[in-house]
Amino acid sequence: MDLSTQDITYCKGVGTKRADILRKELGVHTALDMLQQYPYKYIDRSRFVYIHEIDNEDTFVQIKGVITEFHTVGIGKAQRMVAAFSDGQRTIELVWFRQIQYLKLQLNTPYLLFGKPSAFNHQYNFVHPELTPWDKVKPEMTSGLEPYYNTTERMKKAGLNSRAMRAIILNLKEELRQGLPETLGIDLVHAYHLMGRAEAVYSVHFPKDTSTMQQARARLKFEELFYIQLQLLRQMKRREQNTGYKMPVVGRFFHHFYRDCLPFELTGAQKRVIREIQGDLRSGSQMNRLLQGDVGSGKTLVALLCALLAADNGYQTCIMAPTEILAQQHMQTVSDMLRDTDVQVALLTGSTTRKRRESLHAALRAGQIHILIGTHALLEDEVQFANLGLCIIDEQHRFGVAQRSRLWYKNEHAPHILVMTATPIPRTLAMTVYGDLKVSVIDELPPGRKPVQTIHYTLYRKGAVYRFMEQQIAQGHQVYVVFPLIKENEKLDLQDLQNGFEEICQAFPQYRVSMIHGQMKSADKDFQMQRFQRGETQILVATTVIEVGVNVPNASVMVIMNAERFGLSQLHQLRGRVGRGAEQSYCILLTRVELSKDTRQRMDIMVATNDGFRIAEADLQLRGPGDLEGTQQSGLPFDLKIASLATDGRLLELAREAAQTLLNDDPLLEKERNRIYKRQLDLLRLTATNWSDIS
Ligand code: ADP
Ligand code: MG
Repeated sequence: MDLSTQDITYCKGVGTKRADILRKELGVHTALDMLQQYPYKYIDRSRFVYIHEIDNEDTFVQIKGVITEFHTVGIGKAQRMVAAFSDGQRTIELVWFRQIQYLKLQLNTPYLLFGKPSAFNHQYNFVHPELTPWDKVKPEMTSGLEPYYNTTERMKKAGLNSRAMRAIILNLKEELRQGLPETLGIDLVHAYHLMGRAEAVYSVHFPKDTSTMQQARARLKFEELFYIQLQLLRQMKRREQNTGYKMPVVGRFFHHFYRDCLPFELTGAQKRVIREIQGDLRSGSQMNRLLQGDVGSGKTLVALLCALLAADNGYQTCIMAPTEILAQQHMQTVSDMLRDTDVQVALLTGSTTRKRRESLHAALRAGQIHILIGTHALLEDEVQFANLGLCIIDEQHRFGVAQRSRLWYKNEHAPHILVMTATPIPRTLAMTVYGDLKVSVIDELPPGRKPVQTIHYTLYRKGAVYRFMEQQIAQGHQVYVVFPLIKENEKLDLQDLQNGFEEICQAFPQYRVSMIHGQMKSADKDFQMQRFQRGETQILVATTVIEVGVNVPNASVMVIMNAERFGLSQLHQLRGRVGRGAEQSYCILLTRVELSKDTRQRMDIMVATNDGFRIAEADLQLRGPGDLEGTQQSGLPFDLKIASLATDGRLLELAREAAQTLLNDDPLLEKERNRIYKRQLDLLRLTATNWSDIS
């Protein structure tokens, strides 16, 4: 029987009701789908411990012993069953709070106890342990690694817990023994010393020992990552065939700006990146490139120089920013820098007036505007260009893929695309989420920057922080004070911010304070931002609307209130708002006293390093890829069933290398021996609806 066509409904132990839940909750339609629900952990059931060996709450243990005594305690809802369990040497307490009327405990009969100890009153006990009379213990229960399966709330309600999942899979054991067809070419299996697929799927559910289990998992992870890479790299190759607007000229606009207007020498990294982009622009194929650089590494200038190259070749550029504030600021920076040139720049955002819009649309269509800066307002269909050739998307993660693809249709061919990240992203994420883009990295900060000093204080030391702010302002600097936004309750958030604002106003009566937040009208935000930018106010109290890109070089202190509520990349991005001038700058993280282990680690990393690449890696390790900024909105474009972007970096590199080698030899996968890959890709495309969304 072919497992891939065997309906899950008719598998032993399933039936219509469970099948329905499995389909809805896990997308399991067939027996094979079920077998591809891989365990997320294993517990070694071949090991028994003695009570005196228990020394933590983190691991499941099993003990052989007898109940020497039991009785109920308390009445009504507080009633519980307490038993003493002895392994012949020592005794440990067992407790049940629920359904104690069904408990049938036997004194002095051997039991197998399985459970996770908990610490209570400086002693360990077991709450609701699993007890099996010794004569009912089946050999496979204690013979090796027990797999644990992911389930959802709805599944658990229907009795489909990990154990039930295991039982269903156990029923497929014999069929699985007859084998599954291989999904990787035999030369690849050999070259990378991989376990065969049939053995791997078998061993991942029924592992003989730890090393077999690990080899099985490595094989399945490799396969999963390999097909993602194959898909992405084919996409990249296919796009290289897309006609792109040819921009071979380095002309008047670029030269004039470079010679006469550039306020400083480009860093080596900026120069290299511009050469890489230039190479794409003149190649005749459409560019799809990711520009990574740490906060403050000078991505804006690179974007501007690329726009000038496009203009030199008769093409228009649009620069798209995720927020209105950022778009306005880009507009200001760019038009300042272009002051002494005849390059025409315009701004289009949600708050551009109808009248202004109309003349703007006309000017764009007439080709009188070289660079259009804006928010997603410039995606609208009525925004038409004479000859759009380049789109630069700043802080990309805020835009959904669907939004981005609307840019593709604004000219006859798709324009060149340059995506810029706000902060670095970890290598494994870059290789998957952006794996179909070429990557440029600005790995050098402009010279003369003093690294921001980061300090972590508890809220008790707010007074000291205020005194420090005072000193800095007295020296002519400015200060940001940021409050977190907790989206669940906007009203409360605003109240927090308002209170914070008033407290700061009272603490600094001699200085002027601005406030901005996301709920303000754009004109008001503007007004406040400009007052701070011009130095008319000394303190800016804000929510994270200032997170991305805002540039006020005279600001030297960033105070982050309730820093425990922010993620690492957000903290790094906020910190990047200071340290933009020549003076020493400071970032002060204020948190409560009691911190979780995770939060403490986050604060420690922030204090220890300014390196955005290191922070991005740490963020991935701490939070896992699903929670990372940059993937939240758009989501990982594929579900990983077994591999992890946090821990399988090495396998990912190998998988990408293997896919690359394969495509170098046979770009269209036409060779007879590569049919297996083509077939598998087609299969994956059928099952994964969102493959095609990767733009
Ligand atoms: P980000 O990469 O975070 O977007 P920006 O483009 O905002 O960084 O640049 C940060 C600051 O560094 C700006 O004030 C910019 O004018 C300045 N800058 C950019 N390139 C250089 C350079 N080569 N030398 C000195 N300052 C630079
Ligand atoms: Mg920027």
